[in-house]
Amino acid sequence: MKIAMVSAHASPLAEPGSPAAGGRNVHVAALSAALVRAGHQVTVYTRRDDPHIRTEVVTREGYLVVHVPAGPPKPLPRDQILRHLGEFGTFLRRHWSLYPVDMVHAHFWISALAAELAAREHRLPVIVSFHGLGTVVRRHEGLADTSPRSRIRFERLIALRAAHVLASCSEEAAELARMGLPRLRASIVPGGVDPAAFTGDGSAASTGARHRLLAVGRLSRRKGFELAVRALAELPGTELVIAGSAVGDALDDDAEGRRLRRIASEYGVQERFRLLGPVSHIGMPRLYRSADVVLCTPQYEPFGLVPLEAMACRRPVVATAVGGMLDTVVDGVTGRLVASPDPDGIARAVRPLLEDRTLRETWGAAGDDRARSRYGWDRIAAATLHAYHRVAPERAAKVVAPAR
Ligand code: UDP
Repeated sequence: MKIAMVSAHASPLAEPGSPAAGGRNVHVAALSAALVRAGHQVTVYTRRDDPHIRTEVVTREGYLVVHVPAGPPKPLPRDQILRHLGEFGTFLRRHWSLYPVDMVHAHFWISALAAELAAREHRLPVIVSFHGLGTVVRRHEGLADTSPRSRIRFERLIALRAAHVLASCSEEAAELARMGLPRLRASIVPGGVDPAAFTGDGSAASTGARHRLLAVGRLSRRKGFELAVRALAELPGTELVIAGSAVGDALDDDAEGRRLRRIASEYGVQERFRLLGPVSHIGMPRLYRSADVVLCTPQYEPFGLVPLEAMACRRPVVATAVGGMLDTVVDGVTGRLVASPDPDGIARAVRPLLEDRTLRETWGAAGDDRARSRYGWDRIAAATLHAYHRVAPERAAKVVAPAR
């Protein structure tokens, strides 16, 4: 089948961990690659944000990336893309006239809006992965929510119009049901992990004599790194390193980076706390392997690839009981889910792991098993294809040459 992946903002070619790229970029890239391995043709449509980049790029994995001219060819904050969606949708409509596709899969609500406008004329089924919902953002961020005001209203319309919605976790499926989407119109298809790249075997980044706690993600308040810094005060002999870029500015000037450093000083743990900045995606397994425990303590999390990557690297995960972690982390088996997100609770969950190497190894091995048996990208691609088949069996069954 010929699949059009629409990811207006998250390019699969962007380096994860950089200010503008994270889990969604990894998801679109890895899912597209896995669908190609399963014998399908995949074209990813993403907004051109660099004047020098080629319009079409064939990736090593065999999928095509089309850079869609919509708005100025420079990086734009996600929330400013809405105004260029008309252009984006018109391009898709014309492109699909010239190069017909069988199935459209849109990632994030903005892409879904453009995809549904363009797909209508061609009578194409549109599958939507929201990767997070505006209702959840509004609930947690309140006035600090920078999403366009129309987001929540549009997401409801998009969900109801879509041929099918792929929820990233049980919590998102429940939220969609609350928005009025009949449960049968959504399936849970989570994010995945590359089992060949993320393994417990291989070298680890060097560490000192202290136990190491690792947290990963862009420096945004929602990631809850503050909790990890404050928990450090209750965990002597332990260091905390955080990998990920500042959101926008250089690390030293970044407001969240400065705030975290200030909290570290207030709690007297600045000597044991380090912001690494962005780490190349290829370097992430070595970093996970250097950790005794991986902390994932966001306030909310649409899915969260980091806990899965940590598990595949055989590391126990201590996580807040939110979003995708409720599905991926099994409390008392692969890590700990902390129900009340406070520094004490996190320190209490971490301490027994630091004191007991066997416990770390046992939970790490269980995490590895779980990540490998349930979350490899080939398996996620199979679940995605199952949803495509359910929506349009005759289209999904089409056989095509693997690459254009
Ligand atoms: N990542 C990376 N380098 C960094 C920080 C993060 O490669 O310095 C990657 C990380 O390995 C993961 C992704 O960025 O694949 C973050 O995904 P997640 O879903 O956890 O968070 P999001 O970015 O979607 O908020």
